[in-house]
Amino acid sequence: MRYIEPHGHMVSRTTDDYQDMVTAGCAAVCEPAFWAGFDRSSVDGFHDYFCQLTDYEPKRAAKFGLPHYSWLCINPKESEDVKLAQEVIGIIPQFIDRPNVLGIGEIGLNKNSRNEMKVLELHVDLAARTNSLILVHTPHLEDKLKGTRLILDVLRSDKRIQPERCIIDHVEEHTIGLVLDAGFWAGMTLYPESKCSPSRAVDMLDCFGHERIWMNSACDWGVSIPLAVPRTALEMRRRAWNADLVDKVIFRNPAQFMSQCPKFKLPQT
Ligand SMILES: [Zn+2]
Repeated sequence: MRYIEPHGHMVSRTTDDYQDMVTAGCAAVCEPAFWAGFDRSSVDGFHDYFCQLTDYEPKRAAKFGLPHYSWLCINPKESEDVKLAQEVIGIIPQFIDRPNVLGIGEIGLNKNSRNEMKVLELHVDLAARTNSLILVHTPHLEDKLKGTRLILDVLRSDKRIQPERCIIDHVEEHTIGLVLDAGFWAGMTLYPESKCSPSRAVDMLDCFGHERIWMNSACDWGVSIPLAVPRTALEMRRRAWNADLVDKVIFRNPAQFMSQCPKFKLPQT
């Protein structure tokens, strides 16, 4: 089995996790910028984090033969402070041309607030100006359907943005159709306690098909399983999905999306 982990917060994982992922067939990992479990106190905290995502972490992954890519932003949870968000968005251009940066993410909404919306629009503008791919986080605790609708409205109202260059992550049964019908990519996040279980993910694949969809583990500092994608592949095989279709969903689909950024190199497997 080969797969790509398209959304893994590796800075919070151990070297054992890297070893297990590579052993299970992981061929590349992509790491969006996210909330660290605490609010950073200044733009300097983000500067250091962007150095970690674009320099230190790729080197750590390379020790296990794993190509590492990243996405940059100030995450929605810290976007309530618009002044800080503007400062962070102001330093991203210093990092955007680094060789492992695929785009802007994970941007989006957390509480669907006015300030979050403003910061989302600033990020979308930055992505348009820099011709970057976009990775979007949809809310977990607040109204996901409302948040997803608001996000799609922001993306569609900027005519420079092409839906096929945006992935809307953490979709669930009530939002996936909305996302795919509008021409965007959809990401399903596999979690042991919240979000989407492997069986729910495969149910959604059975209902919505296998085009413009990827699966990820998110694997952050909370309870999460770095091997969630290959474990879900086992569930697909158990349900008689053929090996070629499994490979499409867990390897070729994320590779197809990410290859829209010329910096993404198709991993050798
Ligand atoms: Zn994330």
